Amino acid sequence: MKRPQPLFPHLKYCTRCCIPETQEGVKFDDMGICQACQSSEQKIHINWVEREAKLRKILEDAKKQAGNNYDCIVPISGGKDSSYQLHVLTNVYGMKPLAVTFSHNWWSKSGWYNLQNSLETFNVDHIMFTPNRALINRLARNSVERIGDTNWHDHAGVGAFPLHVAARFKIPLLIWGESLAENSGRATYEDPVHTFDREYFLKQSGKLKPIEMISESVSYRDLFPFELPTLEEIEAVGVWGIHLGDYIFWDDERQTEFLRYTYGWKETQMEGTYKRYKSVEDIMSGMHDFTCYLKRGYGRCTEQASVDVRNGLLTRDEGLELIRKHDPERPEALGHYLKITGSTEEAFYAAMEKLRVPQMRGVSIPVIRKKHKHEERLLPFPEQMIEKFNRSDAKRGYLRNL
Ligand SMILES: [Zn+2]
Repeated sequence: MKRPQPLFPHLKYCTRCCIPETQEGVKFDDMGICQACQSSEQKIHINWVEREAKLRKILEDAKKQAGNNYDCIVPISGGKDSSYQLHVLTNVYGMKPLAVTFSHNWWSKSGWYNLQNSLETFNVDHIMFTPNRALINRLARNSVERIGDTNWHDHAGVGAFPLHVAARFKIPLLIWGESLAENSGRATYEDPVHTFDREYFLKQSGKLKPIEMISESVSYRDLFPFELPTLEEIEAVGVWGIHLGDYIFWDDERQTEFLRYTYGWKETQMEGTYKRYKSVEDIMSGMHDFTCYLKRGYGRCTEQASVDVRNGLLTRDEGLELIRKHDPERPEALGHYLKITGSTEEAFYAAMEKLRVPQMRGVSIPVIRKKHKHEERLLPFPEQMIEKFNRSDAKRGYLRNL
């Protein structure tokens, strides 16, 4: 039988998983194995009992320092990691966190349910910042044309808003979920990323400058909420952060199972992949992943299949089969993008072509039509809700706008 080939045979792929050389920051060792695969081996040899003791000490110290203030900030998106972070911090370690959400304002119905369900279940105080609908609609187009991704506002906001809350509420410790070593070449388990030092700020601001998103329809004033606090503001509070996944053994599959059965966390279908629990809270995540595919030749299915190959849930060949089926799928969310930006499909593909990485230039990138309808409506949940109430008002004979 012929073995499945990667989608773009001219690229170099990790010899163990399915990650190509076009992933940002990827490094291969002499055997052609990527850093995330090396990290997954480190993970087996780490003394997790020792790591957990370190975590306990960090959390105990934070409690002592907090006085009447919150013990820590937990940035949450409503995804699987958010619920797991809250479970660990409140139920296992008895912390009093302040949950903080930067809303991309593209909630799926099940994502909105998961966020609300976790706030109710874990009884945590919560602050959410939501940029207005017209602004994110206007930004989506700039975002595609300038960075080749629909979600600039999300990346920038998720980076900036929890730090603003930390600085203003004087809560130094931020606690994220998954280790950066899990899926990316940005960190390893031996060398986790901890602080928000000058280097972090330079890196972040290099990537996400709000000033670069100014256009005819978007002013700097509109973009102000996406600015990071200053290094001085951060240092005055001594803000720093950890990822729970650097201290406790992280297993997405088992955690999702646990959350589903224990707390009623809901999985849902995702575009462009076969798994049902990563970024399901965002109706545009299919666009985020599809734009990555058009620029770099791989999408979400490549990332998820690679994790499953590392964890022994799939063989590399099975991963490559799934990737052929899912990565090239035209997401239904492209329709929503065209509606909110008034752009055309041709203009979208032309913009994406300009932003390809050098290895993908001049290469034919297959796009396939989806054969099934998406399980959820790809309309932001607040809009679905408004539509539903208006319809029922109309049915009952109420007139709007009186
Ligand atoms: Zn690999």
